[in-house]
Amino acid sequence: MRQSTPLPVLGFAAFSGTGKTTLLEALLPKLLQKGVRVAMIKHAHHNFDIDTPGKDSFRLRKAGANPMLISSNFRNAMMTETHDEPPSFYQLLERISPDSVDLILVEGFKDETFPKIELNRNTLKKPWLFEDDPNIIALACDSVPKTDLPLLDINDISGICAFIFQWIQKSPPLKKYNASCDAFSKDILSVKEGLKIILEHIKPQSQTLNLPLEKLSHHVLSEPLISAVNVPSTTNSAMDGYAILSQDLTQERFKLVGEIHAGHEYALALKKGECVKIMTGAPLPKNADTVVMKEQAQTEKESVFFNLTKYPITKGQNVREAGEDIQKGGLVFPVGTRICAAKLGMIASLGMASASVFSPIKVALFSTGDEVQNPGTPPKENCIYDANRQTLRAMLTKLGCEILDFGIIKDQKTALEEVLHQAKKEADIIISSGGVSVGEADHIKTVLEKQGKIHFWHLNMRPGRPLVFGSFETCPFFGLPGNPVAVMVTFLEFVEPALRQMQGEHLWKPQRLTALAQETLYSKKGRTEYIRGIYSINHKAQIEVQTIGAQGSGILSSMNEANCLIEISPETLKINKNDALCIIPLNTRL
Ligand code: AMP
Ligand code: MG
Repeated sequence: MRQSTPLPVLGFAAFSGTGKTTLLEALLPKLLQKGVRVAMIKHAHHNFDIDTPGKDSFRLRKAGANPMLISSNFRNAMMTETHDEPPSFYQLLERISPDSVDLILVEGFKDETFPKIELNRNTLKKPWLFEDDPNIIALACDSVPKTDLPLLDINDISGICAFIFQWIQKSPPLKKYNASCDAFSKDILSVKEGLKIILEHIKPQSQTLNLPLEKLSHHVLSEPLISAVNVPSTTNSAMDGYAILSQDLTQERFKLVGEIHAGHEYALALKKGECVKIMTGAPLPKNADTVVMKEQAQTEKESVFFNLTKYPITKGQNVREAGEDIQKGGLVFPVGTRICAAKLGMIASLGMASASVFSPIKVALFSTGDEVQNPGTPPKENCIYDANRQTLRAMLTKLGCEILDFGIIKDQKTALEEVLHQAKKEADIIISSGGVSVGEADHIKTVLEKQGKIHFWHLNMRPGRPLVFGSFETCPFFGLPGNPVAVMVTFLEFVEPALRQMQGEHLWKPQRLTALAQETLYSKKGRTEYIRGIYSINHKAQIEVQTIGAQGSGILSSMNEANCLIEISPETLKINKNDALCIIPLNTRL
């Protein structure tokens, strides 16, 4: 069992300059008035010292007393040297005695998972934290963001105090939560761990079907494609010109004996000293093995001259050998190959009219939210148009999926229960967006828990932290976040690899390139960050990448401008300008 406290723990999340300490200073007396005894834990970034040089306690501590407890009639303080190995957040919580305190307020420790109130002042123009942090239980602000979370007035200290007072009455102690399914858990899974769990639960499609050429695009081959013919089928000319024998390479004057167009042939065998006028793609006459370009020849009645000094001839020039592209009986594409335009052309060039592929995956798709409405309908007050179902539809179509569109589902448990009940009967996999945070209207988890199984419900990443993965017996379920950018990023990182594995495309791996950062970038320890970027090639042929404007997870235009995602790994906290970093090009994926 993790070390913890039976006391309610509440933090404040805000950018610096929001006035956190001033607010707390005003809040504390009000809580005390209500009889709430408050302990505070504050994280300091600098090497602070509460002891004064020269005092006895200072001298004894410097001499090696550790801890050093100093006590007077008024207060006491314990000084413990941690030698750059700070105690964990939970060890700190344990040090506060539950007997003399009713509430622990926390300033700092923003990477720790425990309930927090977000403070935001409109004038500072800082992004919202609640969009990516499911630990936020309320917002104290001076604007009206779109959210289901309770909104408090940042300037109304009594209102904030009343909210906290009420919250304490029903707040569960931290230790009640377990590690895997808990918004306040410290043990949040990484992107890598999440993907591993997903792929372990994905079974490849076993059903196959034969599809005609015109329907093959985007599907995945279920059998190796073997060529029944040579491509090209006959040795033919790569140029318009004159076919000759290679024994005649030193000769300049030839007798013109015929003319061959593509699709036709010269019925006789070519003899020494003879040439045949030949068009591109026409089969070489028997014995002929070399073609001289039309532009390098002069003709006079039945004779053709080549100027060997000006245009020397080499044996086999301008000739395409039979089977030089593909040999009869050779492997053209292995099982698991996805058919794209070039591959479709290749299959057609082998003369095949169909191929065997894995049956398309049936994907049940729906959006959630009382505020979400269909494009094309008159705008309703306080509503937004459903962007997610369209981005998801397009990405699923590109992956050759069959889409079962269940539309927009209200934020009601019964409506979700119904759609999931139906979807799991009809589909191979279910994908929804929205309703997976910890707001009052986020019911996906509850319903999934009741009807199926949750494997995880958030990952340490941004954007896309609230991401539910579960299953209804054998049918996997992805509850994607609501924010449109988070939807696309989580689809690319988790749903697409899962679908490709389901479709038997075992050869696929996302393309990753190394690029040079054009600015300093920051991330949080333990978190994988996906920043929208634009990459280009500089004059030294190196790939450079820069971020684009606003990065909020609801700002879909960022996804439109970007041509890559910059991936910052969990162990990286800072990337300097000109450092190498990893980018994921989007060109072929969207
Ligand atoms: P939720 O997690 O359901 O609270 O959604 C997070 C944010 O995404 C909210 O601002 C929603 O309004 C927005 N959102 C949810 N679903 C959609 C959708 N289908 N299209 C566009 N935005 C959405
Ligand atoms: Mg919602």
